[in-house]
Amino acid sequence: MNSPNAPLNASLNSVDDLIAAGLVAPDQAGDLARVEENFRIRITSEMAGVQSPAVAAQFVPDARELVTRPEELTDPIGDSAHSPTYGLTHRYPDRVILAATHACEVYCRFCFRREVVGEAAALPEPALTAALDYIAKTPAIWEVILTGGDPMSLSPRRIASIMARLSAIPHVQIIRLHTRVPVVAPQRIDDAMIAALRARPTVYVGVHTNHVDELTPAACAALARIADAGFPMVSQTVLLRGVNDDAATLEALFRALLTLRVQPYYLHHCDLAQGTSHFRTTIAAGQAIMAQLRGRMSGMGVPTYVLDIPGGFGKVPIGPDYLERSAQGYMVTDWQGARHIYRDPD
Ligand code: SF4
Repeated sequence: MNSPNAPLNASLNSVDDLIAAGLVAPDQAGDLARVEENFRIRITSEMAGVQSPAVAAQFVPDARELVTRPEELTDPIGDSAHSPTYGLTHRYPDRVILAATHACEVYCRFCFRREVVGEAAALPEPALTAALDYIAKTPAIWEVILTGGDPMSLSPRRIASIMARLSAIPHVQIIRLHTRVPVVAPQRIDDAMIAALRARPTVYVGVHTNHVDELTPAACAALARIADAGFPMVSQTVLLRGVNDDAATLEALFRALLTLRVQPYYLHHCDLAQGTSHFRTTIAAGQAIMAQLRGRMSGMGVPTYVLDIPGGFGKVPIGPDYLERSAQGYMVTDWQGARHIYRDPD
């Protein structure tokens, strides 16, 4: 993906930047300008410096984003249907999502929040206060997931402030940050950022990464800094056609993550965001990949394949199914596809 003209220490933020960096051809400018009118563009120097079509496809805009299919939605996972205060989503009783910012270090071309990311950056103070008040007044909330946008695109000072305010709420036991930053902007994981993560409740870092080529030496060092500081990490990966939709590619990613002390957690079926149909596989294809992974690697490295049900009905595992009821009890399918009967004891 890189070019001799790509800047080393700056993000690329426009079609003009991409053309100047040699990442798109000048004759694409017209179509991509129309994409840019609808969806933000940003690629960090770290990702612009990776020579990988699988990385480029995730960040370089594409004229196919101008195609919106009838089933695609502006709010594909229905955040707004469960929003008690601006910036807060309360879908399940015991946890909330707090969108601390709408800014990201990169703008992924398949993002399920692509309609809102890039809008005014940090959550305004009145909205943050209202969200924290809601959390404080709702004792059932055990976990707060900081997302966005990307919460680690905020300054360490701002993150530390939010963490301190959440820490002051006794029933909040887990804070989870979902972020692309350790991978796409690893230089941000410095001592100040690590210090900002320290809070009273247990803090998890959920790392979004989709291809082993994203795991540059700097990204690996950033993940090591987080692990060395004692924060457990899980990963989230989006299944993307042409990027990672085969078992060997995902296996390489999940093995690398395990060695980096990141537990593969979720493989997301690509949500119905507008202009993303070129990235979406079928669920059957995803299930076939999952079945292959189950045989190829340790269960510790195999995430759960999930679908966010469009409309805001939550996340569900979507298989493949290994167990079905039969007249004799259960029919169980092993990793090689052979079927076996299992009976519960009388
Ligand atoms: S970093 Fe996350 S929130 Fe931001 S554009 Fe990418 S997928 Fe969307």
